[in-house]
Amino acid sequence: MDDKVLWIGFTDENGSLDKPSLEALTATRTIAEGIDGELAIGLVGGSVDAAAAQIGGAGATRVVALAGEAWAAPRYASDTAACAQIARTVDAGIVVATAGSRFNRVCAGLAQRLGGAVDTQITDILVENGALSVSRWFYRQRMIGKLQRTVRPWVLSIASGSFVPCEAGDATVTPIEIEGFESRTEVLGVEAGTGGSQTIRPDAETLLVAGAGWTKKQADGEVHTDDAASIILEFVESNRASLGSSKSMVDLATEGQAVLPFLTHLHQIGQTGASPRHAKGLSTCCHGEEPHAVGWRFINERRAINTDANCGWAQGKADVLYVADAFEVMKKVNERLAD
Ligand SMILES: Cc1cc2nc3c(=O)[nH]c(=O)nc-3n(C[C@H](O)[C@H](O)[C@H](O)COP(=O)(O)OP(=O)(O)OC[C@H]3O[C@@H](n4cnc5c(N)ncnc54)[C@H](O)[C@@H]3O)c2cc1C
Repeated sequence: MDDKVLWIGFTDENGSLDKPSLEALTATRTIAEGIDGELAIGLVGGSVDAAAAQIGGAGATRVVALAGEAWAAPRYASDTAACAQIARTVDAGIVVATAGSRFNRVCAGLAQRLGGAVDTQITDILVENGALSVSRWFYRQRMIGKLQRTVRPWVLSIASGSFVPCEAGDATVTPIEIEGFESRTEVLGVEAGTGGSQTIRPDAETLLVAGAGWTKKQADGEVHTDDAASIILEFVESNRASLGSSKSMVDLATEGQAVLPFLTHLHQIGQTGASPRHAKGLSTCCHGEEPHAVGWRFINERRAINTDANCGWAQGKADVLYVADAFEVMKKVNERLAD
């Protein structure tokens, strides 16, 4: 069991695997190669044909799948049963999947069913003298911990953006079944989150952060919230960028001030918000206070636009600070991008 390393992929409505899933597959291969173990793959979903074409050459000795209507929708009972069945079928010592909403919901229950242990949001894999260690962040990305466990099976969920997605060719998949499995939960449909969650795009190249300055009185003594909303949305939509915001910005709604209607607490970046991973980030009308800027830890290239040359971004938190009016700059940027 010890040397059997299993990766589980959940397929989407087209039967394919998303980027974070393929990143977790790279992490799994790293473990299998490091401990000189056997890689096994388990697929779960309505259909798995497209997925099989994505992962074939990953070097797995076995590729098994639970495919069909019963496995199409995320559901605790069926997903836990599916993962447990796959892990038992391949006699897995280590079980890996991406830390998406589907696996996050079941990983603890899965570890319990297998009599193993679970660690989540893994960002790095290390094998020294055949011993496996994994890393994850604690205390809202302020401390990093390195973990080892002797208990098996060891269930691991991989944080997205931590590994390069695996690229491999066709695989031959062996279908498996769970005898007598019946779910008492019926999936009636899917409802998307309200309040503009569709502007949060974890895979986007660029993050645009909107700070409270967008809703403050400007040089003419007036607020220009509608203008701000259209400038921000135009940039985000035309670039397929992800949208973030500062805490002050999302809190303003509860204080009865003018707000941008599409911003919610889900957009908040920072100590009490999210720490997204994007290649580039542009902060606009945001002061760059430490509790906010700490959420920029994984953004590679940081730029900010602020009218205040002494704002937080100027204190070494941004690579480039444009001391300028964000309304003017972003209008120009949108014009250029539309050309
Ligand atoms: C325990 C704790 C946890 C916290 N956690 C978080 C967190 O998770 N996330 C978070 O964001 N904050 C957090 N905060 C709050 C944080 O400290 C700041 O108060 C907040 O980030 C400030 O938001 P802001 O920069 O958008 O607004 P402001 O501080 O009001 O700054 C607005 C900025 O806009 C600029 N501006 C105005 N007009 C223009 C213009 N036309 N062009 C360019 N610039 C302009 C101004 O110069 C100013 O710098 C936390 C605080 C505490 C105490």
